[in-house]
Amino acid sequence: MKEEIMERFTTYVKIDTQSNDDSNATPSTPGQWDLINLLADELTKIGMEEVETDENGYLMATLPSNTTKEIPTIGFLAHVDTATDFTGKNVQPQIVDNFDGNDLILNEKLNVVLSSKEFPELSGYKGHTLITTDGTTLLGADNKAGIAEIMTAMNYLIQHPEIKHGKIRVAFTPDEEIGRGPHKFDVERFNAAYAYTIDGGPLGELQYESFNAAAAKVTFKGNSVHPGTAKNKMVNSGTVAAEFIRKFPENETPEQTEGYEGFYHLISINGDVEKTKLYYIIRDHDRQKFEERKNTLERFVQEMKEAYGDSSVELEMADQYYNMGEKIEPVKEIVDIASQAMRNLDIEPVIEPIRGGTDGSQLSFMGLPTPNVFTGGENFHGKFEYISVDNMEKATNVIVEICKLSAAE
Ligand SMILES: [Zn+2]
Repeated sequence: MKEEIMERFTTYVKIDTQSNDDSNATPSTPGQWDLINLLADELTKIGMEEVETDENGYLMATLPSNTTKEIPTIGFLAHVDTATDFTGKNVQPQIVDNFDGNDLILNEKLNVVLSSKEFPELSGYKGHTLITTDGTTLLGADNKAGIAEIMTAMNYLIQHPEIKHGKIRVAFTPDEEIGRGPHKFDVERFNAAYAYTIDGGPLGELQYESFNAAAAKVTFKGNSVHPGTAKNKMVNSGTVAAEFIRKFPENETPEQTEGYEGFYHLISINGDVEKTKLYYIIRDHDRQKFEERKNTLERFVQEMKEAYGDSSVELEMADQYYNMGEKIEPVKEIVDIASQAMRNLDIEPVIEPIRGGTDGSQLSFMGLPTPNVFTGGENFHGKFEYISVDNMEKATNVIVEICKLSAAE
């Protein structure tokens, strides 16, 4: 099975599928179509049914039930695009057999080294087959590992009809990395009772709680006057913005929080004397605290208006996604099936809240409860991204086991 997974994965990563937030198209980049079309052919070839891609590049397929038992339809999802943070062009996957646990030179010429000093978990992969980058691109294990694992699991089930399972639905979707994955996802067309994104990191990762998320743009208007004659006339929007920034609790930032702790994050400042724009994101797992954080930001804006006039500050704030735990908690058995599947394979489930969101955060609120399962990858979104093929095999087995377990009850 390892060979099969590797073959698929190394084929997929060579296709540049980086998404692009500046594009209004879906998928946002043509490269994603190349992979989607290849995957559609492959799904048909291995014997999947109802292989259909809609006009927005959402590829879905069915593995029909092979039992007369009434079993809810399960879905498995992965995204075809790669992160915008780092180039995904001309990816040259490097295969390291029987990894010796020492530092890995990714690129001798550019002196790019994957070192266990910087990445202490690396030594834990001693003896594994690893796939790394050549030090010049990301790898794209996020999320092509998930695609390879789902594809291989479906092929395995097709090759092993003695394993009984209900109806399985598979979807490969565009533009997750720019937060649009679920936007055009047709939940009705997918028609599953629940699903799993195979989009997590290291072995055992199982996630069903995410942040609640909002974004705020705060614009400060100043009054630019020649500095020589500015006394009592100039209003420097930068200075006013700085005063606003200082209102926020100093320790509630991403760099000072972990676990279930929420934060305010000032992601960018753009401006001059006349106008300064601040972009914030607000994150909290707790819905109540999340609402309070938004109220706090609004209050700070109000205070600035009182000090500098109503027209001096403008606020645009919108929710981005919510904690999927709210929708998954009532059907917690879908998390339990996944943990049981892992335990049956001697994998200890690592259940921790995501300090971010997944496609599942939005899908769960669209009526498709969707926890997230590990792929086996490490260091996503950069040149140090790598993945253990041994753990990819385990992720594939977890998918098969989830199908098996759901039919066993
Ligand atoms: Zn991903």
